[in-house]
Amino acid sequence: MPSMLDQTMMLTPDGVRFVAIHPKVVETIRGWVERGSQSREAGGILIGSYRGDHVEVSGSTVPMERDKRTRGLFDRMDRGHQEAAMQAWRSSGGTESYVGEWHTHPEAHPSPSVLDRWTWDRIMRRVREPVVFAIGGWDSCWWGIGAGARVEVMRMLSSGWDIV
Ligand SMILES: [Zn+2]
Repeated sequence: MPSMLDQTMMLTPDGVRFVAIHPKVVETIRGWVERGSQSREAGGILIGSYRGDHVEVSGSTVPMERDKRTRGLFDRMDRGHQEAAMQAWRSSGGTESYVGEWHTHPEAHPSPSVLDRWTWDRIMRRVREPVVFAIGGWDSCWWGIGAGARVEVMRMLSSGWDIV
């Protein structure tokens, strides 16, 4: 397996927990950010694995047919996202699965909306492990990690797009 440092960005909210994001995940999110008056939000789930206190995000899903996409909302309705997580679980022998959520905002430097916080609270009640949340914007990507009932902003240690 390649070194996490060589292959990914490292993020940490408080110096305790590290989250490694595969560059292809960053590129996927960035590729779905839209501009202009007709823009719609996009999103999907993050797939990866837990390693002790740390999280490695190695893949993601992208918008599917039954998802709801408007200018101010991405609602992950399509069952295909969950099926992709199940498939990752099976094909990895039980190490890879759902680790979080991403979506886009039509703004330069995104931050979570009230609706985002509400949605994430509901997710965190169902998931026992820490959950990674990403919001891609035109010029940067917001990254957070939810554990318990709190979502903490993560600090970037290395990257391209996200340094602002
Ligand atoms: Zn949002």
